[in-house]
Amino acid sequence: MTFMAQRVAQFATTIFTEMTALAIEHKAVNLGQGFPDFEAPDFIKKAAREAIAADINQYAPLSGRPDLRQVIARQASRAEGREIDPNREVAVMVGATEGIFATIMGLVNPGDEVIIFEPYYDSYVPTVQWAGGIPRYYTLEAPDWAIDPDRLRTLFSPKTRMILINTPHNPTGKVFSKDELEMIAGLCQEFDAIAMVDAVYEHIVFDGSNHLSMSTIPGMADRTVSISSLGKTFSVTGWKTGWTIAAPELTQAILRAYQFVTFSGIHPFQAAAAQALLEAEKRSYYTELAAMYTRKRDILLPILEDVGLPPLTPQGTYFVMVDISHLDFANDVAFCKYLTREVGVAAIPPSAFYHDPAAGAGLARFTFCKRDEVLEEAGRRLQLMKH
Ligand code: PMP
Ligand code: GLN
Repeated sequence: MTFMAQRVAQFATTIFTEMTALAIEHKAVNLGQGFPDFEAPDFIKKAAREAIAADINQYAPLSGRPDLRQVIARQASRAEGREIDPNREVAVMVGATEGIFATIMGLVNPGDEVIIFEPYYDSYVPTVQWAGGIPRYYTLEAPDWAIDPDRLRTLFSPKTRMILINTPHNPTGKVFSKDELEMIAGLCQEFDAIAMVDAVYEHIVFDGSNHLSMSTIPGMADRTVSISSLGKTFSVTGWKTGWTIAAPELTQAILRAYQFVTFSGIHPFQAAAAQALLEAEKRSYYTELAAMYTRKRDILLPILEDVGLPPLTPQGTYFVMVDISHLDFANDVAFCKYLTREVGVAAIPPSAFYHDPAAGAGLARFTFCKRDEVLEEAGRRLQLMKH
């Protein structure tokens, strides 16, 4: 007799935990799990220290600190070209992950269908299943990850409740275009579905690509939930402070779920977040962030190309997919384990992000959110691939 509940028994340990453990065991350069290995900006660390020292240490309000909701609403109002109400349309939570969880729990009924682009971020499917929803998959295909409108349409039906969009997209680096968002918006309106947009990499975009908010598309403001967090933007993935932005009716449903998950987010980090978002505006931080990651991408891409791992150039995020289909490995897991153990560089096997692992078997994901010297060391080790 096992004590483990059926709702979790089917899941393995996440691929991030597994590959990071393997990287540590083999002292590999970890280009697998996406977490920056460099310092977070001083201004955000100072703001957190000051918040704790000032005893902002008791429960935050359910929907988040008012000053944080205000600055989130103000910055998003500018991006979305509409007036966002900080009191009724913003909810702050413990990371984007909890925002995703509360959104799905608050808005998906058992039996509802939820369309998911794959490769997907790994928390989406379990969360949809816990809500009793039925995942319907649209597979984005290399090399350009384009969306075929007719194929997408076949997934929509009167049962469709929600579509999950991640743009800029982890792991492909795809930034959804205006045309693509308009096409998806048309389907959402025709089938009365909600769009959940996971935009945690919204500020990490390259070569003139732009993150466009779904709620700017006519007819979408009332049926879009936009989700972001501090983690990627301020290199503080361990702070787990994120938020949802959605019309009052949607926000109310999200908060109903959230109140019984964590009840309220981490108060001193919310205070620091408010300061950081203000500070970021003042010092054109977002532009600098994109420039830093463009530079890091441009260090890693030629290395991968040179050692026979052709990269599929990302338009955003801090990830790059490479084609491994021409190599002599059974699949992506075998390749990533070999690379970690024998070459000393860890990558993530993307099959974990597909409902049918075979779809990701010819790809591997590398991250470039690491110090330049770490990327260069990976480059030296990867030379082994040439022999
Ligand atoms: N969505 C995507 C696409 C991600 O890559 C991540 C990073 N882990 C998250 C959500 C989770 O963000 P957070 O750490 O703020 O929960
Ligand atoms: N978002 C990061 C990645 O995709 C880390 C995710 C995690 O550790 N759960 O690598």
